Amino acid sequence: MAFKGENQMTDILQMVKSKDPNEKEFHQAVGEVMESVKPVLDRNPQYRKAKIIERLVEPERVIMFRVPWLDDQGEIQVNRGFRIEMNSAIGPYKGGLRFHPSVNLGILKFLAFEQVFKNALTTLPMGGGKGGSDFNPKGKSDNEVMRFCQSFMTELFRYIGPNTDVPAGDIGVGGREIGYLFGMYKKLRNEFSGVLTGKSLNWGGSLIRPEATGYGSVYFAAEMLSARNKNLEGATCLVSGSGNVAQYTVEKLLDIGARVVTLSDSSGYIYDEEGINREKLEFIKTLKQIKRGRIAEYAQKYSSAVYTPVDPSLEYNPLWNHKAMCAFPSATQNEINAKDAQNLVNNGIRVVCEGANMPTMPEGIAIFLENGTLYGLGKAANAGGVSVSGLEMTQNSMRLSWTREEVDNRLKMIMQSIHKTCLDTAEQYGTPGNYVNGANIAGFVKVVDAMMDQGLV
Ligand code: NDP
Repeated sequence: MAFKGENQMTDILQMVKSKDPNEKEFHQAVGEVMESVKPVLDRNPQYRKAKIIERLVEPERVIMFRVPWLDDQGEIQVNRGFRIEMNSAIGPYKGGLRFHPSVNLGILKFLAFEQVFKNALTTLPMGGGKGGSDFNPKGKSDNEVMRFCQSFMTELFRYIGPNTDVPAGDIGVGGREIGYLFGMYKKLRNEFSGVLTGKSLNWGGSLIRPEATGYGSVYFAAEMLSARNKNLEGATCLVSGSGNVAQYTVEKLLDIGARVVTLSDSSGYIYDEEGINREKLEFIKTLKQIKRGRIAEYAQKYSSAVYTPVDPSLEYNPLWNHKAMCAFPSATQNEINAKDAQNLVNNGIRVVCEGANMPTMPEGIAIFLENGTLYGLGKAANAGGVSVSGLEMTQNSMRLSWTREEVDNRLKMIMQSIHKTCLDTAEQYGTPGNYVNGANIAGFVKVVDAMMDQGLV
């Protein structure tokens, strides 16, 4: 069906592409949202007049800076640091920091753009931002990581604050990095405040924050199924990644009686026919959080598991070619291409629930939607992490700590609310069951209405 503003939308996407031709992940993220919101623009000509899309795709502020640091050999290293302050219409900028050699402006702009709509869905007052560095924490000593984090913060501290911009973790940034970053911020500002989330419990962190993204993703999958009178009990699940999101996805799946058979890292994946039980999960947590080892070691320890290294000559990822009812991609962007999506569908997949940000390529999403797969996109399904970050900010402001049960209940309620909002919005716009449209439209309307209220700023 053609929409009145079809040409205008194509022009805007073209403009975004020609302005920054190398930012392909950003183009992908913008393209997906624009496709979903066409009918909203047709119903609301005031948005077009206000050039709302043109304003949304332009970050409010982009900060890029040099991060020099000394390695253990006394050699000088130089990395690049970034913070994208994308949109503050509904609250302070909020979003994680990613430390990974692949980090560049395009990847962080895509993540910041997604974050704007995700945060709007959470019901909490948070704008969208994202940041990070091309620093690779792998193989670095704790002291090197500390020196890097300190140098990174000596520049970033100028731009962030508990009412301005509140970063958190993402790939390569966990409790250790947040600790070093917080320490330096506190020293520079002489102020103990809730400027970062994902802090340790004894200095301002929230219970359930480490678990929140994984738990939330499973709560979202459970909601998708429960709306169809089904559940996850006994379901065979494929999980990718083996970091923060993947570990707590497995933990919650075990809590509710599902069976998880895969995990991965950037070197390969394991398939454990017997399923990953609690003891094996504890092994993974120690392996990844403390020893910082590789997933291949799982198969050395447990003979029920087969390890398959990454084969760059393959056009698909064999992890997604096993029989299962649910898939929880929880590693990184674009990890499911069209062939992977087709393999999943051929193997009888019913639910795809994204712990990672934008793990499915557009052609893969189309295959899921055509085949009636319950497809929970990252923006909605992985919003549990930032939601509990929002709850951490609330606890910091109130100077108190909620119990585990209190935070977990709030997380569950937020995930249920996000699910309902997506479902209702999709229905309202004539695409029942389409979570992509539901999430994009609901997030978009909340943010752009706030922008309209606040005038041309
Ligand atoms: P971690 O750094 O804890 O773990 C990342 C995992 O993904 C590791 O197993 C890593 O393997 C793997 N991985 C990373 N990059 C690649 C790659 N290019 N190819 C293959 N595997 C890769 O990060 P998180 O678990 O925090 O984040 C995972 C995903 O979830 C990301 O997309 C992130 O944006 C998203 N997310 C995270 C949230 C959070 O609260 N942490 C919130 C919402 C979304 P290896 O160790 O070999 O690099």
